Amino acid sequence: MSTNSQIVEATNKYLIPNYGRLPVAMVRGSGARIWDADGREFIDFFAGFGAGGVCGHSHPAVAAAVKAQVDLLQCCGNLFTNEPQTQLAKAITDAGFGGKVFFCHSGAEANEAALKLVRFAASAAAGKPRHKIISFNNCFHGRTMGALSLTPEKFHRGFEPMLPGSVKVDLGDIDAVAAAIDDQTAGVFLEPIQGEGGMNIPDKKFVQALRKLCDDRGLLLVADEVWTAPARTGKWYGYQLHDIKPDVMTLGKAVGGGLPVAACVAAPKWQDVLQPGKHGCTLGGNPICAAAGAAVYKLIKDEDLVARSAANGAKMMQAIRDAKISRVKDVRGAGMMIGVELDGPGADAFKACMDKGLLINCTRENVLRLAPPIVIEPSLIAKGLEILISVLK
Ligand code: PLP
Repeated sequence: MSTNSQIVEATNKYLIPNYGRLPVAMVRGSGARIWDADGREFIDFFAGFGAGGVCGHSHPAVAAAVKAQVDLLQCCGNLFTNEPQTQLAKAITDAGFGGKVFFCHSGAEANEAALKLVRFAASAAAGKPRHKIISFNNCFHGRTMGALSLTPEKFHRGFEPMLPGSVKVDLGDIDAVAAAIDDQTAGVFLEPIQGEGGMNIPDKKFVQALRKLCDDRGLLLVADEVWTAPARTGKWYGYQLHDIKPDVMTLGKAVGGGLPVAACVAAPKWQDVLQPGKHGCTLGGNPICAAAGAAVYKLIKDEDLVARSAANGAKMMQAIRDAKISRVKDVRGAGMMIGVELDGPGADAFKACMDKGLLINCTRENVLRLAPPIVIEPSLIAKGLEILISVLK
């Protein structure tokens, strides 16, 4: 078996250097633990940017579903249908606002589908083209050109021009949203909690006012739930924190339990907008990935992971607050989607945690993001928190 340095050397030789990768190669995972090629074990509060955020690494239920499906049927193309994708779509919509699902592989692709759906639906309803989309400062919707256009300018440099009519306003400023709307505006993209932008939670009153504004002005409201779902926030979906229903919801990351599954979910009113020929994805909803996703949703239901996320997340946040660490300015989040805001850059804390065997993430320079798999054992939560607190003190 190769070592970290051998694998990293080959990575540097053969992979495009678009990620700021650490010189560590991961080779094995189990639940909330992961091992590198040199045999070091880590407690994983990072979970692959949230992709392992529900069931962790190589969960037996997901592994069994994938293994069974691999031997049965691996692809058939969307000229036909397959049962795993209908099972996953039913589970996704039963837990949410009903409607229908389009499957793809990444959060960015799910947002591209939502963008097209929103433009098409708003234009058809208005009887004239509507293309403008409002999103929020500090948001993150992905790296493809449409999703990138909705994401802040610092990610655009060198890739311009962006999609015309992409407008950003401050999260929480309902007057700014109202002022940004004109007769070409089609919709608004909102993260129920901003994950990459610093774990910012919009005020519930703001989100409800936004819902009303969209209704009044004929706009579609999209909840980008790529970080916040499923179960991460202590609700099935993050929009449920705000007691609203979006018109469209996008999913990704944890839905496939580590396999690439993403989805654009349209509410009943909009569920038949995208007719044949309007959108597609060759491998979207392929049986292996869909079987993994169906196993993840079944696990959440069978083991009541929504409630576990809410309860364990609240305990984790309280334990960090109780530690009364002077560097910590704020502890915020919902369920097991937790941000620890420091009074300065967090890169040193991130590195020190890793040296002590805990993986976390740092966003917006000074917000440590904790997103352990929801299935994590209490003893590993305690051990991880002990490392984090000792590093910050
Ligand atoms: N939307 C949100 C809220 C995200 O946090 C991300 C990625 O972090 C994306 C979309 C893009 O997802 P992907 O990297 O799977 O394209």
